[in-house]
Amino acid sequence: MYADTIAAIATGMTNSGIGIVRVSGSDAVAITDKVFRTKEKRSLCEMETHTIHYGHIFDGEEKIDEVVVLLMRAPRSYTREDTVEIDCHGGVYVVKRVLDTLIKYGARPAEPGEYTKRAFLNGRIDLSQAESVIDLISSQNEYARKSSLLQLSGQLSNEIRNMRAEILHEIAFIESALDDPEHISLDGYGDKLAKIVDNNIDHVERLWKSSENGRMFKEGISTVIVGKPNVGKSSILNTLLGQERAIVTDIAGTTRDVLEEQINLNGILLNIVDTAGIRETSDVVEKIGVDRAKDSLRNADLVIYVVDGSLPLDQNDYEIMELIEEQQVIILLNKSDLKAVTTKKELKKHLDKKTISVSALDKTGISDLEQAIGEMFFAGDVAYNDELFITNSRHKYALQETLAALRLVRKSIEDGMEEDFYSIDLMHAYEELGKIIGEEIGEDLVNEIFSKFCMGK
Ligand code: GDP
Repeated sequence: MYADTIAAIATGMTNSGIGIVRVSGSDAVAITDKVFRTKEKRSLCEMETHTIHYGHIFDGEEKIDEVVVLLMRAPRSYTREDTVEIDCHGGVYVVKRVLDTLIKYGARPAEPGEYTKRAFLNGRIDLSQAESVIDLISSQNEYARKSSLLQLSGQLSNEIRNMRAEILHEIAFIESALDDPEHISLDGYGDKLAKIVDNNIDHVERLWKSSENGRMFKEGISTVIVGKPNVGKSSILNTLLGQERAIVTDIAGTTRDVLEEQINLNGILLNIVDTAGIRETSDVVEKIGVDRAKDSLRNADLVIYVVDGSLPLDQNDYEIMELIEEQQVIILLNKSDLKAVTTKKELKKHLDKKTISVSALDKTGISDLEQAIGEMFFAGDVAYNDELFITNSRHKYALQETLAALRLVRKSIEDGMEEDFYSIDLMHAYEELGKIIGEEIGEDLVNEIFSKFCMGK
């Protein structure tokens, strides 16, 4: 527990209906009591925990605001300390005056994330849960929200703790066997350990792989639109965006730069890169665009390949198809309002990918595209509703290190190394896993993590 009592504005810094000032620490109730008065003139110190009180905030004899006060005594509060929340009128100036008054009477301004940091340091939540608080606040869609909430409820922490307990058990066994070889035999132990390590490798690998989906939830699916000039890429992008952003023209090769836009398709975020049409070109400026398009293509999660259905396929199309063969592709057969020359069947002969007929002009087929993307990324194998996704790069890195250490154990067993080799790498895996829940990390890193929080959280 900390000696000092902190106070901060917990709501946004714009004028709004209500603004909340949060006070936490051993003197939270006493300090608020100095500035809060009820009609009955009862002291807040006498009030029971988890009660609500109506009154006014005073700076000496000056009335500052009419408020409602929520009292939560330790340990049943967010920080596990005595906490008071003051609901004021939500004007930026009013809320600030209330905060200043509390500071004048003994509270210290809180640092960003200090409430959650106290919740962590007081043992109410571990580090991965604390980090999920930032993710929850910054989540922009259903998937991100659900996954952060699962992490906040401790699902990741439990999985990590179980693995650590299992690993520690084996380390202890090896150490005691080495200390007391007369009574504890290590005969055949390698095989037993190999199974346990394999299980843990599978588990860590599954978590690690989930970070791909985790990243897409959090940051969006990186999507590239490709196709020859004039097939309607910009028109499709504009339809998706619902606004005129890219320049649409009839002159081939005018979309020279790479445009990036983020769109939200029923909760799935797409980071769309509209590229200069990929085709052989001698124009230098256009050439730069083509090279960049190829670059973004390599890093894309999803490629939307647009074909003009009113024209036959040509060499340029075949070249594009070759480039994107290995990737997750949705083909849009555009200009379905015109007489069809290239059909789905014809396309399938060259590139066997999900194909959707659309018309950017009539705005038809767009909802099919939305559905296809949803199915491709967040349905089928991925039961995104109750699965945990790693969204934090710190966690991902620790899992990667854990995997490397466990694989070394596996190799030592295979190579018939001495048992003390096992325990060194097992210990390393144990420590790396511990970093995720905050058990093996230094104060500096803790401070850095919490400094990324918003004020008042
Ligand atoms: P981009 O070069 O691939 O980005 O193609 P644009 O979006 O600039 O479109 C090229 C031309 O095709 C423009 O004249 C558009 O109006 C036209 N166009 C785009 N989509 C359709 C469509 O679905 N139907 C028809 N008839 N014309 C379209």
